[in-house]
Amino acid sequence: MAVPKRKTSPSRRNMRRSHHALTATNIAECSNCGEQKRPHHVCGKCGHYDGREVVAASA
Ligand SMILES: [Zn+2]
Repeated sequence: MAVPKRKTSPSRRNMRRSHHALTATNIAECSNCGEQKRPHHVCGKCGHYDGREVVAASA
């Protein structure tokens, strides 16, 4: 098994982690109920997508 020759320095470790930041998810307004939802996803509140109900509304 390949084994690293040297211990990763804190600087190297932090440089690697510089790409690990999370970004906020996009939110859009449901065109049916106005609830905030993720774009290109079925609305979790009313079950609508593209102007029609595709999943039975929850609760
Ligand atoms: Zn909705």
